[in-house]
Amino acid sequence: MFTLQSVELRYGGTVALDGLDLDIKSGEQVCLIGPSGAGKSSLLGLLNGRTAATSGHVSVEGTDLAKLSGKELQKLRSRIAWVPQDLGLVSSLRVHQNVACGRVAEKGFWGLLRSLLGMRASEKAVIHELLKRVGIEEKIFQRADHLSGGQQQRVAIARALYQQPSAILADEPVSAVDPERARDLVALLSTLAKEEGVTLVMSLHDLTLARQFFDRVIGLRDGRVVFDGRADDAGVRDLYRLGGEAMPDPSVVS
Ligand code: ADP
Repeated sequence: MFTLQSVELRYGGTVALDGLDLDIKSGEQVCLIGPSGAGKSSLLGLLNGRTAATSGHVSVEGTDLAKLSGKELQKLRSRIAWVPQDLGLVSSLRVHQNVACGRVAEKGFWGLLRSLLGMRASEKAVIHELLKRVGIEEKIFQRADHLSGGQQQRVAIARALYQQPSAILADEPVSAVDPERARDLVALLSTLAKEEGVTLVMSLHDLTLARQFFDRVIGLRDGRVVFDGRADDAGVRDLYRLGGEAMPDPSVVS
């Protein structure tokens, strides 16, 4: 699904990603972990074509992103859902309208506006079904800013699924919630991605969640991959060396 070859990303004098080689297969569930500033957000930004690599090659489904026109890149990006840290909901819009925003790249601005102003019953039914899957169908006509943090996260997940993506990229989607809610949410995203056969790449701070839900964990530090594999007990010792905010609570690591 995603291939990176000798990828470097610089912001002025700062090297955010330093000679990355990675291959993420279609349908894989991958967790990115590492201290603040390790390059997790930068890597996710490259995978959905928001940012261009300074050097090296980023390919999505075999297509080198640097070779695409603006329009082609937009089309490709419409199949890669993005769940940002702040969720990116429009607070004054209702839940069903926020979910509809998942298809803005496909419908274009005017198409989306038409859909927001007078949504067809068939579209509403699809959105209702998605909201049922994330457990908040009764909130379909609520304003987004009248929902709890956990409910807003579920709207963001429904919006991502509505996009019918081949991959979902999530940048620390649970950093602002309590551990129990974070666990429920990662579980939900992971289950839904598996059911849909969608590739999932998520950055997390919590190594316990990474171990619990992901077969593959990629540890980053200073823009380099320092760990890539299963977070089993031997792997955890390597991940410990990441230090900083990625350090798990020692009580949860045997
Ligand atoms: P993480 O997501 O792991 O916290 P980031 O990818 O956000 O790490 O950042 C990697 C490095 O790139 C850091 O040194 C950060 O300061 C730098 N960086 C990220 N975004 C920008 C930007 N827009 N402008 C300048 N430097 C940036």
